[in-house]
Amino acid sequence: MLYVKIWTVGVLFYLNVINNVCNADTTFNYNSNPSVALLQRYIQINTTTYNDLGPAVKFWNVLAAAQGVKLKKYVFKKKMPVLVLKWPGTDPSLPSIMLNSHVDVVPASEQDGWLYPPFSGQISEDGKIYGRGTQDMKSVSIQYYEALKRLKEKNISLLRTVYMTLMPDEELGAEAGMLSFLQSDAFKAMNVGFELDEGGALDMPVIPVFYQDKVAWQIRVDCHGVAGHGSSFQPTNATATGKCHNVVTNMFAFRDQQYPIYTKAPINDAGVYSSVNLNIVSVSFFFQ
Ligand SMILES: [Zn+2]
Repeated sequence: MLYVKIWTVGVLFYLNVINNVCNADTTFNYNSNPSVALLQRYIQINTTTYNDLGPAVKFWNVLAAAQGVKLKKYVFKKKMPVLVLKWPGTDPSLPSIMLNSHVDVVPASEQDGWLYPPFSGQISEDGKIYGRGTQDMKSVSIQYYEALKRLKEKNISLLRTVYMTLMPDEELGAEAGMLSFLQSDAFKAMNVGFELDEGGALDMPVIPVFYQDKVAWQIRVDCHGVAGHGSSFQPTNATATGKCHNVVTNMFAFRDQQYPIYTKAPINDAGVYSSVNLNIVSVSFFFQ
């Protein structure tokens, strides 16, 4: 049996939205910036998978109250709260905008070589913030919040309602969070027309906006062939290994054709190539 895993890559493109946190600006005093301080406070809440998310719920409750926006909490599975902050638009009949992020982070241990404790939110002298979940994806949640807060402070009303959604278990597969939420009446009532979600962090002063995500396409190929005595001589295409050889040869030919495209592709255009990898090759003998 031969397993071939093919990754197709959606097209992504770039928007120069704002200068952002990836590259530290050494002239900027991060230590006295309230938005950065808010991010640090959020990082300091240890939201590791299976931890009590109560302190994070409290954090968002306070932030929602500070802006006078409603926060709703939905619990589809015990200890897995889904939070929704509603920033009303002036025309509620229009489809809404959903800005999603997740609260949970994967485990981190100080023994794993962290320069600073993983839940410290420490800013180094060169302006980098250290903390588990900083990129994945607490900084995004704070960016959403800060953007909406600033619009409100400038008395800018958006036509469409904007929902900030915060999920509890993305790192576990999202069953208790996003999957349950999408099937709920609460989600249907939101009438979402556009959604922004998790992306990748890049070491450059832009926020890339992906409009498609990578899609895994796993293919298993079973090659059957004629059995016979070791001294018999069968045509290659009649044998299991010969058929496997053909599959692998064609796959690598495609790979060799795609690889040069990948090496020349601009960072904002991963959609121009498809990556292919052979993951498992196994052989089994059986007789009919
Ligand atoms: Zn994530």
